[in-house]
Amino acid sequence: MSRPLVLGGTTEASALAALLARARIGAILSLAGRTRQPAAQPLPTRVGGFGGAEGLARYLQDHGITHVIDATHPFAAQMSRNAAAACAALGLPLLALTRAAWQAQPRDRWQHVPDMAAAVRALDRPAMRVFLAVGRMQLAAFAAQPQHHYLLRLVDAPQVALPLPRAEVVVDRGPFTVEADLALLRRHGTEMVVAKNAGGPGAVSKITAARALALPVVMIDRPALPARAETDDPAVVLRWLAHANLGV
Ligand code: NAP
Repeated sequence: MSRPLVLGGTTEASALAALLARARIGAILSLAGRTRQPAAQPLPTRVGGFGGAEGLARYLQDHGITHVIDATHPFAAQMSRNAAAACAALGLPLLALTRAAWQAQPRDRWQHVPDMAAAVRALDRPAMRVFLAVGRMQLAAFAAQPQHHYLLRLVDAPQVALPLPRAEVVVDRGPFTVEADLALLRRHGTEMVVAKNAGGPGAVSKITAARALALPVVMIDRPALPARAETDDPAVVLRWLAHANLGV
């Protein structure tokens, strides 16, 4: 019997978890533990790091895991590298559930930057009102550009002082809509958006709203990820589990 491990923390992983539960597949979902009250999940869930690739390999062996599905966020590169290394070491099948990156449209005002440090450098300019949509863990880097007024949207209310002197926090875990994001950007007089190219439909509304308002977007390109089999279709994951060596 198969016992898959789903590396999650994304809307896509939660949707896959629901599918696996409906199919009565004895899978385990793994979350990093970054949010205080993660959404209820239909699968048995473990929370917290494994202790690097070696720790993950130990976990996979100890729990009799037969398949690993990497459904983490495209910017969770360390977890993806660890999954690839642990599966290679144990000879376990690995499949990534991914989403296509967002593409600029002809009139978009995107400045592509390769990473977070370059996004910080792109803000080396006079004060603006910036929607900084990079996630709580990345905020400290932007303390180097304290002149801006930042709008932050976070899953949890911050428990410690923010590293940014002029910041306004909206606590919201979505789902988000274009209409609500348009209203948010207008209400805050946003002049620029900084975002990770997460891809997929879940977080695109802010990009669509920025497009509608002709706002410039600093778009942080995705980190390099290990070569692995990928699909963007949860149904393919189910077929892959049923036929271990199905090409994807
Ligand atoms: P990361 O930098 O790739 O991972 C750092 C460490 O966190 C990993 O080495 C691992 O610790 C632990 N970890 C990450 N994902 C885990 C998981 N699903 N289960 C157990 N441990 C996990 O990851 P991150 O960017 O901090 O993202 C953390 C989580 O948030 C991921 O699950 C991701 O899907 C989700 N998320 C991330 C973003 C983003 O923009 N990065 C956005 C939305 C959601 P050990 O080495 O100790 O195993």
